[in-house]
Amino acid sequence: MAKATVNKIISFSSVDGPGNRTAVFLQGCGFDCRYCHNPETIHACIHCGECVKYCKPGALTLVEENVRAADQRTGRKRVHYDITKCVFCDECFRHCPHGASARTRELTAEQVMREVRRNKPFIRGITVSGGECTLWRDFLLELLSLAKAEGLGTLLDSNGSYAFSEDPELMAVTDGVMLDVKAWSREEHLRVTGQDNACVLRNLEWLAAAGKLTEVRTVVVPELFDCRQTVREVSALLAGLGCLDARYKIIRYRPMGVREEYKSLTPPTEEFLQKLVGVAVGYGLSDVVVV
Ligand code: SF4
Ligand code: SF4
Repeated sequence: MAKATVNKIISFSSVDGPGNRTAVFLQGCGFDCRYCHNPETIHACIHCGECVKYCKPGALTLVEENVRAADQRTGRKRVHYDITKCVFCDECFRHCPHGASARTRELTAEQVMREVRRNKPFIRGITVSGGECTLWRDFLLELLSLAKAEGLGTLLDSNGSYAFSEDPELMAVTDGVMLDVKAWSREEHLRVTGQDNACVLRNLEWLAAAGKLTEVRTVVVPELFDCRQTVREVSALLAGLGCLDARYKIIRYRPMGVREEYKSLTPPTEEFLQKLVGVAVGYGLSDVVVV
């Protein structure tokens, strides 16, 4: 069974897709968005141990890995996380110099499903997010297949860096994708995320045409990219494909959780956000929200 590094599981979420859902967040992302609110999910932990001393409840400990019983020679150390001792104070990743988190668990899809099953009477489905969940494709396929077999809905929250059209097996068990379109222009997308957006835009078109686009999200940071152009082009594309009922979530940038060097970015005004709503509605989109 494939394993993934799981950053956290939220049993009941009403903001990760329609209805009440269990949201599973996986570690690691190929983008490096300047306004990322969860920068600790971007990189994999390198087990340097720096964060352990900040964990007062003792949920993090440094343990020897690969201890050889025969001669007691030891291998390198790694950080062990005990979720039962964690008080979720966030001190560990506040002090990580590598943009990572040791507050993670290596879990199989079946182990995650065991946690999901407890919530089954109260949820409509699961949403797998990140980081970027598609970095764990084989695990995703197993988890979504298990969830589907138990009658649960399945959504992915993605930055669009994975070619969904080339993976019919995964799409067969995915009800829909909530896709980030962080900037329309390639140059601006590079500036915001460090990566090209050709795959993101191909996904936008393909998912909309395939009836698999549940939601589009754009975080609005006026000084970082042309937000009006992005909302306009996304809306025009959706309208052109007749995909008028996909939700367009226009997200107000807030500096909470953002890395120190990017905290000076200015949040948009309410007036500007409402202008963006007007642009999308003007193209006929019926479900445009500001959060
Ligand atoms: S989370 Fe960061 S500080 Fe802690 S062990 Fe991993 S890389 Fe080091
Ligand atoms: S969040 Fe958990 S693992 Fe991190 S420092 Fe706090 S108690 Fe320790």
